[in-house]
Amino acid sequence: MTASANITATINSLEFARKRLEIHDTIAVFRLTRLGDLLASQEGELSYTLSGFLDEQSKPGLRLAVSGELVLSCQRCLGPYACAVDAVSQFELVAREEDIPLPEDEDDERDFMVASANMSVQDLIEDELLLALPLAPRHDDGQCGEDGSAIEKILRESNSPSPFALLEQLKRRG
Ligand SMILES: [Zn+2]
Repeated sequence: MTASANITATINSLEFARKRLEIHDTIAVFRLTRLGDLLASQEGELSYTLSGFLDEQSKPGLRLAVSGELVLSCQRCLGPYACAVDAVSQFELVAREEDIPLPEDEDDERDFMVASANMSVQDLIEDELLLALPLAPRHDDGQCGEDGSAIEKILRESNSPSPFALLEQLKRRG
C-alpha cells in the first residue's frame, strides 16, 4: 500500500507502521532549516522514502532512507563542498519513553522511537541528516579551491620544501 503526502504532513507513526504505509517523495533543501549554517547552498532537493513495517515479532517500526546531494561549507577553505547523502535508519516504535529497553549488549544497535499520533516527517528527515552529515566537512587534502584560506595559500605559493623533502635532504647529508 502506498500513500503520497506533502512534506508538511505529519503521520500517525503506529498506524503508519501497522498498515505498512510508504511515502516516496522529495524535500527541497531550503526547507531543511535546522541544517542552518552547515549548508553552503539552499538549492536542490533530496529524495526520501519512509516505510512502515511490522518485524518478525509483529513489533511496529519505521525505516527512513534519504539520498541526494547537499552542498556544505568546507571547514578548511570555506568553499562549497558537495556531500553525497545516502542515509538509512530504522526505528522500533514504543508507546512510551520508559518502554525503550536498555541495550542488551555492546553490539546492540537497535534504535527506538516513541510513537506519536502526529509525527513530523520533516523533523525525522532533519534528525537523520544531522546525524549522517560530517561534523567538520572538508575537501580531501589538496582539493581545496583557489579561494582557500590565507594559510593554505601561503603554503601553496611558498617554495619551502615540505617536511618530508627536508627530511630527505638531511638523510642524504648524513
Ligand atoms: Zn576546502
